[in-house]
Amino acid sequence: MENKVALYIHYPFCVKKCNYCDFLSAPADDDTRIRYLKALGLEIKSYRMPVKSDQGAILPCKDDNCDCSTGIRLPEKLTVDTIYIGGGTPSIMTPGQLAELMDALRNSFDVDPDAEISIECNPGTADLEKLTAFRSLGVNRISIGVQSMNDDELRILGRIHSSSDAIRIIRNAREAGFDNINCDLMSAIPRQTCESWRDTLNKVADFGIEHISAYSLIIEEGTPFYDNCPALPDEDSEREIYYMTKEILSSYGYERYEISNYARPGRECRHNIGYWTGHDYLGLGIGAASLINGRRFTDIRDIRKYISFFENYNYETGIHGIHENIEKLSINDRMEEFMFLGLRMTKGVSTSDFRARFGKTIEEVYGTVIKRQLELGLITDRNDRIALTDYGTDVSNSVMAEYMF
Ligand code: SF4
Repeated sequence: MENKVALYIHYPFCVKKCNYCDFLSAPADDDTRIRYLKALGLEIKSYRMPVKSDQGAILPCKDDNCDCSTGIRLPEKLTVDTIYIGGGTPSIMTPGQLAELMDALRNSFDVDPDAEISIECNPGTADLEKLTAFRSLGVNRISIGVQSMNDDELRILGRIHSSSDAIRIIRNAREAGFDNINCDLMSAIPRQTCESWRDTLNKVADFGIEHISAYSLIIEEGTPFYDNCPALPDEDSEREIYYMTKEILSSYGYERYEISNYARPGRECRHNIGYWTGHDYLGLGIGAASLINGRRFTDIRDIRKYISFFENYNYETGIHGIHENIEKLSINDRMEEFMFLGLRMTKGVSTSDFRARFGKTIEEVYGTVIKRQLELGLITDRNDRIALTDYGTDVSNSVMAEYMF
């Protein structure tokens, strides 16, 4: 297996649930938050236990017929090149709690000195003092959930902060020493107009931050918006908002390197690029997804069972937790993912990388689709790479669907 992994750490607590959010996150009392962090610390610590070669370090294995009988064997210590602490709202943590988490991670994994270490931050939950402490713990990238610079829109979304909180926290992050700042923005939200979106983009880009993620609102089942959503922008405005995003951000020197992500040159998010290029990743905390050695699985989603498992944990078992949705990816699954995720990036997929991974040329597998999409101007095929054109990006869902078997 690949020796390097990306780590995702899930902190599932928020001050209040937003009206559009279907993530595994909820408000919780102090006791639950403390017990969860303790359990998470133990899950992390389980990776420090020496590997017994007769057993292997045990992660779930779906396939009884594969060459390991007890699960996925891990190297003695995994090298980590990126860490992403997400949620939920991990900026609820105190500096002391984050310090314990970072210590546990460094004790259990070989964290590359050059690792990108990101944390998500809700502007309503941090201040200069907290961000300075986070930075001093080695966190070197902060992702701020700004969403909008319009207070009415923020209220409709059910966010706990105002636009002035967002402005304050971006300034605080700079002052705390973060030279790699992302802001998450959300378009196509209720009552949003082209003018208000332009204003949000301009106000955020004016800070000269390194990275902007601009996603469109998706109405998910089970959220308050699913049952009762105020009027959304009409189709024409949505289209204009979509085109305006690239135009405005380009004028500030941001490059679109993925369908919804923009960065200053060299400041792309390494952790997310890992997801899009099929890098192994290990998720820790409830509901966190992993992809290790061609197996996909998630940590158990039920927080009570998660906490109770680690409160009664026995390291001798060598097991790292309770996992669900275990799936061994077939070669077809892996080829689909390679195309589906890789084409999200502006630079597209490498045809030689495809051949090296799968032992077949991309033309052998997808020749007919590629030929048709080239003729329709949806993709380009240059310098060893297949990539979406601007037109292909506009209709990316249908283009990428053609790579599914
Ligand atoms: S703060 Fe983030 S994770 Fe929490 S409810 Fe809102 S969108 Fe969801």
